[in-house]
Amino acid sequence: MGFGRRLPEFITGSSSNKFTVTAAAAFIVLSLVLIATVCSPISYLPLKFALSGTKPPEQTCESREQRSSYLKHRSPELPPYLLSKLQEYERRHRRCGPLSESFNTTSPLGTHNDFSDGGDCKFVVYTPSQGLGNRILGLSSTFLYALLTNRVLLVDFGPDMEDLFCEPFPNSTWYLPETFPFLFQLQTHRFRASYSYGNLLKRKEEDGDSSSSPALLQIFLQDKYNEYDKLFFKDENQGFVERVPWLVLIHDGYFIPCLFQMQSFRSELEKLFPDQETVFHHLVKYLFSPSNQAWGQITGFYEAYLAKAEERIGFQIRVFEPKQTPFTAVMKQITSCTQKHRLILPQSDEVTLRNEKSKSILVASLSRKYYEEIDWMYGTRRRQSTGIAVYQASHEGKQHSGDNSHNMKAWMDIYLLSTSDVLVTSSMSTFGYVAAGIAGVKPWIVMIPDPYHPRGANESACERAINLEPCFHFPPWFAYPDPPGTGGPVGRCEDVSWGLKLVGGHKTRR
Ligand code: GDP
Repeated sequence: MGFGRRLPEFITGSSSNKFTVTAAAAFIVLSLVLIATVCSPISYLPLKFALSGTKPPEQTCESREQRSSYLKHRSPELPPYLLSKLQEYERRHRRCGPLSESFNTTSPLGTHNDFSDGGDCKFVVYTPSQGLGNRILGLSSTFLYALLTNRVLLVDFGPDMEDLFCEPFPNSTWYLPETFPFLFQLQTHRFRASYSYGNLLKRKEEDGDSSSSPALLQIFLQDKYNEYDKLFFKDENQGFVERVPWLVLIHDGYFIPCLFQMQSFRSELEKLFPDQETVFHHLVKYLFSPSNQAWGQITGFYEAYLAKAEERIGFQIRVFEPKQTPFTAVMKQITSCTQKHRLILPQSDEVTLRNEKSKSILVASLSRKYYEEIDWMYGTRRRQSTGIAVYQASHEGKQHSGDNSHNMKAWMDIYLLSTSDVLVTSSMSTFGYVAAGIAGVKPWIVMIPDPYHPRGANESACERAINLEPCFHFPPWFAYPDPPGTGGPVGRCEDVSWGLKLVGGHKTRR
């Protein structure tokens, strides 16, 4: 035992004083951070950045650097004009976005009608609704609208979308600052009543309202949008909308086919996307890179279970009305699709099976039953002879709302599916559209029995998607190609008879 001087207790951290010292240190650090933040020239920092200084932490986005070794299909090159427009967009986002000097002077402050006109910066705010697939489609569409109309895209994700994605735009942030007026009201009926474009058009028609162009307008495009809301997609109204500095878009679908139907945008869109069947593929890969946290989970699962196989098959099974849809009817559709197109060889095909590649099958579904059945059919029962293994990353039971960890699992499933060589997805599911879009793999879309829209007995169990474009489920009547099925960039979807999708030069099916 030595007789050296004992260090003071606040350094050694004796247990009795530890809490007081920690609390005092935390108080001092927090005070300094608060003073620094208040004195900072940028006062519109989103809360998550406000505590860490004036800029978001400069983090590398691991998925952006590593994803090409996980996604098997090589992406087509970005068309040069699209690339230059994206670079121009990034400069605009830096110049006008929440971390810029100019945002301080142009962002909406004060009373509800006291919005600055934004100088030469105009904004479009996306607010999420429905599940993750719908959100990714909605956000991709909003971004393309921002690109076409020289606006800056800001997102109001809310707490259930925390840390899913890397920031897409370098040296800036896409988060709508928490100081934005109406932040918690953007989706309320009251806000819609006062600010929606549909209501403004209705008032104009009914009372001859001739108010000049407002500083903020809500564009309501959700599945239940009314005839007035739909007029947003009319060319003659874009001039008015263009003058509004702040737009708030409420919607949940892939409305890009409607933009292609508008003269205002058609020629620019054709320049941006010479191949109109990879529009979503380019947008989704540009905008949505898993955050480092999500990437750790995705690659962890991938390396542990999927990496070893020579071929990966993803089944995405989405049943919208599980109580009214018999499990056996869904399985029948899946197995007839798999057998008819020889996606997995039947066990009777012994000679061919011997030369088969080893396979890992990922089953993404809210339910565990589908995983168990597929594992029984192709995995457990045949494992010795065929080298097939079946996995499921999560089975959440049902869709949750407002739950960040649930969305993280959904994102993980979408991305794991997108590492597949062969994809089998479910009709009408935006979740499947997103997985196929990221993968760059044309999926086999299984027609899941739908109690409200029964199909004919002779209809096939699945159809191969003609391209990677998602279906827009709720187009306005005037967006349908006329006459239908005679070429042009927009046609009918494989899985939703009333939906529209980009078909490039393909002749439409129905
Ligand atoms: P859609 O309803 O099929 O068009 O897809 P959405 O993604 O918009 O909404 C469905 C939501 O249910 C997802 O966002 C998830 O929260 C949940 N969900 C549905 N299928 C799956 C699945 O296979 N895996 C996981 N983890 N969640 C799912």
